[in-house]
Amino acid sequence: MPRIASVLLPMPLPEAFDYAEPEGLDLAIGDHVTVPLGPRVIRGVVTGLRDGTGGNRPLKPVLERVDDPPLPPGVLSFVEWAARYSVDVPGWPLAMALRGLRHPAAKPDKALVLTGAQPARMTPARLKVLAAAEEGPMASGALAAAAGVSAGVVKGMVDEGVLAVTWVEPDTRFPQPDLSRPPQTLNPSQQASADVLSEMLAAGGFQAALLDGVTGSGKTEVYLEAAAAALAADPDSQVLILLPEIALTQAVLARFEARFGVAPVEWHSAVSPPRRRRAWEGVAAGQARIVVGARSALFLPFRKLRLVVVDEEHDGSFKQEEGFIYQARDLAVARAKIEGALVVLASATPSLESLWNAQAGRYRWLRLSARHGAAQLPDIGLIDMRETPPEPGRWLSPPLVKAVSVALSRGEQSLLFLNRRGYAPLVLCRACGEKMKSPDTDSWLVEHRYTGRLVCHLTGFSMKKPEACPHCGAKDSLTSIGPGVERVEEEARHLFPDARIAVFSSDTVFDAAGARALVDSMAAGEIDILVATQAAAKGHNFPNLTLVGVVDADLSLRGGDLRAGERTFQLLAQAAGRAGRHEKPGRALLQTYAPEHGVLQALKAQDRDAFVEAEMAMRQEAGLPPFGRLAAVIASGPDPVALEAYCNALAAATPNAEGVEVFGPADAPLALVRGRRRKRFLVRAERSVDLQGFLAAWRARAKVPNSVRVVFDVDPYSF
Ligand code: ADP
Repeated sequence: MPRIASVLLPMPLPEAFDYAEPEGLDLAIGDHVTVPLGPRVIRGVVTGLRDGTGGNRPLKPVLERVDDPPLPPGVLSFVEWAARYSVDVPGWPLAMALRGLRHPAAKPDKALVLTGAQPARMTPARLKVLAAAEEGPMASGALAAAAGVSAGVVKGMVDEGVLAVTWVEPDTRFPQPDLSRPPQTLNPSQQASADVLSEMLAAGGFQAALLDGVTGSGKTEVYLEAAAAALAADPDSQVLILLPEIALTQAVLARFEARFGVAPVEWHSAVSPPRRRRAWEGVAAGQARIVVGARSALFLPFRKLRLVVVDEEHDGSFKQEEGFIYQARDLAVARAKIEGALVVLASATPSLESLWNAQAGRYRWLRLSARHGAAQLPDIGLIDMRETPPEPGRWLSPPLVKAVSVALSRGEQSLLFLNRRGYAPLVLCRACGEKMKSPDTDSWLVEHRYTGRLVCHLTGFSMKKPEACPHCGAKDSLTSIGPGVERVEEEARHLFPDARIAVFSSDTVFDAAGARALVDSMAAGEIDILVATQAAAKGHNFPNLTLVGVVDADLSLRGGDLRAGERTFQLLAQAAGRAGRHEKPGRALLQTYAPEHGVLQALKAQDRDAFVEAEMAMRQEAGLPPFGRLAAVIASGPDPVALEAYCNALAAATPNAEGVEVFGPADAPLALVRGRRRKRFLVRAERSVDLQGFLAAWRARAKVPNSVRVVFDVDPYSF
């Protein structure tokens, strides 16, 4: 009986296409195939097979099967689920699932083996080669090196037929975790949490837990033990740990290596394509058992995923906002559900969504309320910048300067935290008042002194800092307004000329090696003052760091985003949490112009519960997440008339649905990016509403002109 194969392509198409299965190909679901699409040949994945032919219109045939490991059923279900969740085409999440395959498979390597023929002439060098070649096939260079002879000797033996060329499959084995290593001795609350997680794993099936523990309480040790339990339960089981900004948080990798004797498999954008290919294949083969990765690791072809950990689950970088839009925390829960795995969300400052789920009993709530060992949580103090302002043109207030001096005099380290890259966030002309803006984009150019350039942090545009104002031509009139980390560093150097000072931001540290070098030198006490953006605010343990100074605690409160309070609390609690993580007590000082603000008061009182309660009440009152659901619809295009017409048509086509309100269109928070104007609708729905269904139906009711792009952002991070 002929069969029809549904083939999903990693492209923006609404569904899988049907092709005829050629006789004898014997396809299976999950197989990679090539198919014709118009004049092109495209690679896709078989998602369905059924008996039949195309009827009157014969179907084009599948061209061939590609010999890559098939996608497991869990991945296919996940791709489908993710597309529906994000109201997007399934081709996008499929493309993410195939990302590891972009690089070609490793080819067999050329090697030399003994043929059994005896050399016509025996020399001591040739004897050594014969002995070395006994070990098995080896590349000629490696053989010469192993025998300690020149390449010429080996070549002579090949020419004589003593050695012959053979091809060996590349070594695809992954070192396996050593589960016999002893765990850390956990403290009683860690042990209690680890026990619960083990019980949950033993019970099997999908379950979720929130590991909610103050900074330094030892959450990592707890989930390491959960990983050990998951790996020990079954020789094929796999675990996935998701981390934000993993390239800069190598410390966690080292802890896995110390615990299991092997480095976990890494998956993030800084991993080279050949290594990604290898990781992908290792995961598909079930060989790679511990994967530590960024959000996109969720799309890997796990065969037997037993545990997913999302560390720093509150972190905004789990939200992907370009291309395929998704919140990795939510997708992690979905993937675990599909695989029947345990998902653990860990944080010292969980998202309100996760706290809400824990309060409602949907997530098992595990709390660690004290730091491990003798370490105490840092004292948090507020510095009222209205009462003790810095000198004009400076950013560090007298109390903070004093605290840094005291730390220096005791030989202790300080962290000055400012979540802003560069030297100054704004450059303006004193003569004409014009602000330097990014071309065709609604954002200021940020001055970077190290590079002497003005940079748009949104689009990546950059230019050399001009000597004259490009608007009025005035010479030397450009002034830098406000501080970035580079400027705080400059001030610190001026104030503490003898101190050893370093900057940790994505402009000074861009890869794992750089991050490790800086973290190591901080840990070794070679730095007195670290000036850092949030790149350094999380994950690190610096034993001698006793003071954290937050240069501008109000920064992320500005801007009117309804999540600003939550975000600020999380960021500052994490930053403050770097201080005093070992024996020496720590202190955090927050510079603010609004010390009476609820967020800052809650931080000062170390009263997260009060903050959460107030924030939850506000959200409930307003029907905002987690009490209601939100989605943003962003329409953008270069032609304002076409955009406006489309937005009007979309507004007029809003379906009438109970429990749903649509606001807008209004200018999106970034109203102009790379010459495209952006308009936004916000959709607020009661939790019982099928929000995705509503959005899909709405979109179908207005035709999108060619110049306009519409993007749906379900559960937006900013609102
Ligand atoms: P968190 O992830 O909760 O911020 P960590 O897991 O990084 O905390 O632990 C904080 C510090 O305490 C780390 O230096 C860690 O090595 C140490 N630590 C945590 N638990 C233990 C333990 N049971 N025994 C020894 N050291 C521990």
